[in-house]
Amino acid sequence: MTIAIMGAMQEEITPLLEKLPEAKVTDFGKNRYYETTYNGFNIVIAYSKIGKVNAALTATTLIEKFGAEKLIFTGVAGALNPILKIGDLVVATKLIQHDVDITAFGHPWGFIPESGDFVSCDTDLVTLAKKSAEGLGLNILEGIVATGDQFIANVEKKDFIVNTYNADATEMEGASVAYVCECLNVPFVVIRAISDAADMDAGFSFDEFLVTSAKNSANFCLKMLDGLK
Ligand code: SAH
Repeated sequence: MTIAIMGAMQEEITPLLEKLPEAKVTDFGKNRYYETTYNGFNIVIAYSKIGKVNAALTATTLIEKFGAEKLIFTGVAGALNPILKIGDLVVATKLIQHDVDITAFGHPWGFIPESGDFVSCDTDLVTLAKKSAEGLGLNILEGIVATGDQFIANVEKKDFIVNTYNADATEMEGASVAYVCECLNVPFVVIRAISDAADMDAGFSFDEFLVTSAKNSANFCLKMLDGLK
């Protein structure tokens, strides 16, 4: 089986590349893909660069060109739910594009005609994530993730996302990857470790905790692969 693990930034996939056997590298579509193996699985790894469009291109490429049959997204996110602290893990149950606004036509925020709004992660992978966390002493929350092409670092925007979508964490890629995977029938899950609180200090916090939080998330994804065996 071929499993894709993708992140948005180099820092989010480096911890994986460091732990896995040397990968075969392929450049495609202004991006780089790393093929390796782990526990009998073919693994293909990439970071997409930031944002929904880059992430959708990478997810599609992982599936259509590299044959990914399951996809795990690893990375960092801003906390919306106050119980989430730096380094804690979020397993997305469902994701939404929080910046989609065609409300002028009477549609609800986040809704796209003929496409929908929330996309749910694969329940088996969510269950596997929960099981994988047992005994590791990790704080892990199953929750709603809101995605947009915006780094949220302001309390009004944060409150808007919480009040509109009841979301627990926010980031810039997950919902687009979720939608691609849903359309192409590939089971997926989004795992994120908290790097900041999406408030006025978010930029500083992100810079300080990106590397350690990204590592938490990546290590956890490898742990999940042990459970998939
Ligand atoms: N510092 C980087 C930009 C980081 S953008 C640079 O200058 O190049 C933030 C990245 O982390 C995105 O990939 C996003 O998915 C995630 N993220 C973490 N905290 C976030 C927040 N508060 N709002 C939105 N995305 C966040």
